[in-house]
Amino acid sequence: MDSSLQALVEMTRTLGEPHRDYVIIGEGNTSHRIDANSFWIKASGQQMHNIEADGFVAVRLDETLAIIDNPPPTRDALQAAMNAAKIDDNLPTRPSVEVTFHAMLLSECDVAYIGHTHPVAVNQIMCSARAEAFAANRLFPDEVVLCGPESVFVEYEDPGLPLAVIMRERVRAYIAKHNEAPKVILLKNHGLIALGQTPTEVLNITAMAVKAAAIFVGACAVGGPVFMSPEDVMHIYKRPDEIYRRQQFVD
Ligand SMILES: [Zn+2]
Repeated sequence: MDSSLQALVEMTRTLGEPHRDYVIIGEGNTSHRIDANSFWIKASGQQMHNIEADGFVAVRLDETLAIIDNPPPTRDALQAAMNAAKIDDNLPTRPSVEVTFHAMLLSECDVAYIGHTHPVAVNQIMCSARAEAFAANRLFPDEVVLCGPESVFVEYEDPGLPLAVIMRERVRAYIAKHNEAPKVILLKNHGLIALGQTPTEVLNITAMAVKAAAIFVGACAVGGPVFMSPEDVMHIYKRPDEIYRRQQFVD
């Protein structure tokens, strides 16, 4: 098997380990860029914790991105377009319903691996009135180092193509503001997306976002969170020794 597909299988299984409380049953999906115009995406209905290589489908990037630019008029036409983007037409599996946002993020953010999960710790905030405040702020230095100076926040949208369309707008606004791609995307009433160059980076970002979520909830219970100032956040983010540390976490 292709070693990068094997790495995707292992990353997906790790994200799905029951003790982490990131996903249950068929929740979550992952992807990996194969080359300029193709990527692996988890197939619809697969469980993450015991997934095998045949639980992934290779699809063409340009055809999947075209779905976002020219949305098919009906649900059946959308399903047909997603299936038509498969590289191997004979495969019985179909790509995850979230294949469009994976294509968009692999392209817009120029990352190699994506992990999308529904962690309990994160979703207790995403399903609360403080969801946007959690995304926009940082609580402690290692959250800044791993997760970036802020997270992209996406309001609730129907999973699938409508979510990909609104997420692209939010991601482009983040890139215009920060001059670089985000590490974390938070989806209101839905979940978390971690973007990385390696499986290790996706796992580390997910773990740190989940830790920050647990701390945020605890801080809300003892009088309310006290966020780092924007100056302190950017100071940590730009410190050469922290940039060096951040690179060590990627490999
Ligand atoms: Zn989801």
